[in-house]
Amino acid sequence: MEKIILTGDRPTGRLHIGHYVGSLRKRVQLQNDGDYDKMFIMIADAQALTDNFDNPSKVRNNIIEIALDYLSVGLDPLKTTIFIQSQVPELTELTFYYMNLVTISRLQRNPTVKAEIQMRDFETSIPTGFLCYPISQAADITAFKANFVPVGEDQLPMIEQTKEIVRKFNSIYDNVLIEPDAILSDNSSCLRLPGTDGKAKMSKSLNNCIYLSDESDTIKNKILNMYTDPLHIQVSDPGHIEGNTVFTYLDAFCKDEDFGEFMPEYTNLDELKEHYKKGGLGDMKVKRFLNSIIQKELLPIREKRKELEQNTDIIFEMLKNGTIDARKVAASTLREVKEAMKINYFEHNKIIF
Ligand code: ATP
Ligand code: MG
Repeated sequence: MEKIILTGDRPTGRLHIGHYVGSLRKRVQLQNDGDYDKMFIMIADAQALTDNFDNPSKVRNNIIEIALDYLSVGLDPLKTTIFIQSQVPELTELTFYYMNLVTISRLQRNPTVKAEIQMRDFETSIPTGFLCYPISQAADITAFKANFVPVGEDQLPMIEQTKEIVRKFNSIYDNVLIEPDAILSDNSSCLRLPGTDGKAKMSKSLNNCIYLSDESDTIKNKILNMYTDPLHIQVSDPGHIEGNTVFTYLDAFCKDEDFGEFMPEYTNLDELKEHYKKGGLGDMKVKRFLNSIIQKELLPIREKRKELEQNTDIIFEMLKNGTIDARKVAASTLREVKEAMKINYFEHNKIIF
């Protein structure tokens, strides 16, 4: 079976280090290993509108920001098809047909949607489109017959919903759709990177992000003000690693080599953690170490972005071409779906009943 990868991001803001460790880094690795047949990356503007319908400029303006972030981290349009969701109307059509296969109560049980409804204060008035976005995500994945979807942990309920739709569709109509599997990071700290406030998932909508494009000073300020362990008051106090965001970020980013370069008194993260737990290691020292690591990782990304920002015409052209390619694939799946559903009346220029 072909290995087809699809994933994407909502144009609700620039991409942050949660995206990077949760999904982007893996995409670039898959792309460069060449261990796939096709890779599609979607800028999910139609999905972003389900909870930003009253702010279309935000969604529109962030399309280029996301595309710049993609290219800055090393996604390559020659190897990967990057496209804009709303410009592939076949996806909307598929969504409409899949809606028949999903109950409202099933959508209301989706834990990610539930959390997002709460976060957005939608409890008393949930936009229908927002409640249904997992169905539209199933359309996105199945339109490309993707079998691998590299995502953060918050997307697991969407993949589960997609599998259910695929099974139901194939059993009622015909064996057209492919069941996808999520590709999750094997580093547990990367599955749902917390925000710098230490409270929730790092999320564009929560203002708790370190953005890939943040300037060096901004990154430093954000890190030095980060949440650590409230019980670690004096340097000599024993510290806690669990729920300590600085250590979660170190788990996500730190490599043994970083010690040689920035903190030669330790050889690995376990040693640093042991010292912190015992007491005698100050938060500022750990934060400065984390800052050095993140600065090193983000510097080339930021520099590449500045270069790309000089000529955004090329990027729009790339998005246009990617969208044309993506549309062909989605149209071919839609044709099969309509045939299976017996709504292909006018194919081959004749009415087939
Ligand atoms: P929004 O607040 O608009 O929902 P977001 O920050 O949650 O934005 P998305 O565009 O919804 O970002 O997510 C894109 C991809 O990045 C998804 O695969 C998601 O699982 C992953 N992702 C998002 N935030 C994190 C995070 N904090 N840690 C790990 N992965 C993440
Ligand atoms: Mg999200």
